Amino acid sequence: MAGDPTDTPVIVPAGDGFFIRQAIDNMGWCDMGDYILVVDALEDAPLEGEVMAAIADTIGDKPVRYVLNTHTHYDHVSLNGAFVERFGAEIINQRTTTIEPGGRVFQAPEREVRMIPMPGTHTKEDCVIWAPDDGILFVGDIFGWGLIPSGGLLTAELRGLLRDTYRRLIDFDARLVIPGHGPVCRTAELVRWVEYFEWLLETVGDLVASGKSDREIIMSVTPPADMHHWWRFEAWKHEDALSKVLASARRGVLDD
Ligand SMILES: [Zn+2]
Repeated sequence: MAGDPTDTPVIVPAGDGFFIRQAIDNMGWCDMGDYILVVDALEDAPLEGEVMAAIADTIGDKPVRYVLNTHTHYDHVSLNGAFVERFGAEIINQRTTTIEPGGRVFQAPEREVRMIPMPGTHTKEDCVIWAPDDGILFVGDIFGWGLIPSGGLLTAELRGLLRDTYRRLIDFDARLVIPGHGPVCRTAELVRWVEYFEWLLETVGDLVASGKSDREIIMSVTPPADMHHWWRFEAWKHEDALSKVLASARRGVLDD
């Protein structure tokens, strides 16, 4: 089996003065002229030295002024304190700060970065970070390489929110999409996930309606061939998504 692309963290040059640290937990940083802006802050506090060195190596000796968290799950915030301590950085997320629906803009001579609330599919706090000049979009855990980002039943309201949210993400037409975890991808994967989600809803709904057992459904709804290479998809993400759709179908909420 091919190696997991997250076995070794890599620094991906994403644009001029723009870098992604791709690993199991992703983060990024960019040069804003007088300062550096960071997106997300990992799970492991002991990575502080390595991350600070990578930022200094790639951009140089500038202060980190802002750390933007896509949401505040523990695996996105562990270095927040280190950035505050070293640089007096301001931590921005929907827990610390009110962000207007239109977003908050960080303007540099060479680029703009916009933090846009997109709440409800993964957490109430979800924000995406969009850098239009670079075509780079951080989506946090709204995209999870096949995962359905929400817990709970897939009610009509939640399905509508998922569709609306993905439509907004796809409309950015980003060149690079940075998920909270795993390999960097492109808008094409967002489009493919929506197709996959709709296919699961329809296929599982039909199988339930025709009286198939859970076991028969799980055996017959196999991962689509073109998604075999998706990160950890065959290992568990497809099964996880399928079980959420199946539980919702059994509770009758897919008929609403
Ligand atoms: Zn999360």
